[in-house]
Amino acid sequence: MADTLAPKVGLMAAFIHAPLKVLGPGTRVGLWVRGCTLACEGCLSPELAVPDKLSLRPVSQVASEMIKLADKHLAYRVTISGGEPFQQAVALKELILLLRAGGIKDILVYSGYPFKELRVRYPWIERSLSALVDGPFELAHPTDLAWKGSEGQKFYLFDPGLKESYDAWLGLKARRLQIIPLLEGVLVLGIPKLGDYQG
Ligand code: SF4
Repeated sequence: MADTLAPKVGLMAAFIHAPLKVLGPGTRVGLWVRGCTLACEGCLSPELAVPDKLSLRPVSQVASEMIKLADKHLAYRVTISGGEPFQQAVALKELILLLRAGGIKDILVYSGYPFKELRVRYPWIERSLSALVDGPFELAHPTDLAWKGSEGQKFYLFDPGLKESYDAWLGLKARRLQIIPLLEGVLVLGIPKLGDYQG
C-alpha cells in the first residue's frame, strides 16, 4: 500500500457537508476527500476517485471549517469518506488530531483498504479513530445492510463508549440518502443500493 496521493502540504478535500444524517449514527459533519487509485468495478464515487491538486487545502483550514460546522449544528461526530482517505494518510492523521483537539468525539472513516493492512501500516488508527468501515466496493457481492455498499466490507469499533449508538446505526434496515440541492443539479449523500441509480 503506498501513499500514492499523499500531498506534503495539505489535503485534497472534495467537499464538506453538515448536517450529515446518513453515514454514521447521529448528526455529523461529513468530509469527502478526493483521489483513489483502487479502481473498484462499479465505484459509486468515480468523480471523487480522480485526484485534483486544485482541491488541495491546508489541513488546518479543513479542520477549522469542520469544527465550525460541528459547533453550528451541535454535531460533534465526523465521517470521512472519499475517494480513499488513507492515500493521504499524513494529512488524514494531522486532520484527526486537529478534530480531536477541536472537540470532535466520534470519527468514522470509510476506507477501501482492509483493516488488517491498515493496522500494520498505520498503528495510530486504533487509538485515533472511533470506528472504521473497511474494504473495497465489490459489484459482484451486494448487501442488504444499509451502512455499507457490498458484503465484504466490515465494521470495526475502536471506542467502546460509542457502542450503543453504533449498534443502533448498524441495525438500521432501510437505506437512507440525503439529497442536497446545488446551483446545478443535486448532491446525493449516503450509500445507494445497487441499481438505485439505474433506470
Ligand atoms: S475504494 Fe471507494 S472511491 Fe476507491 S475505487 Fe473503490 S469504491 Fe471507488
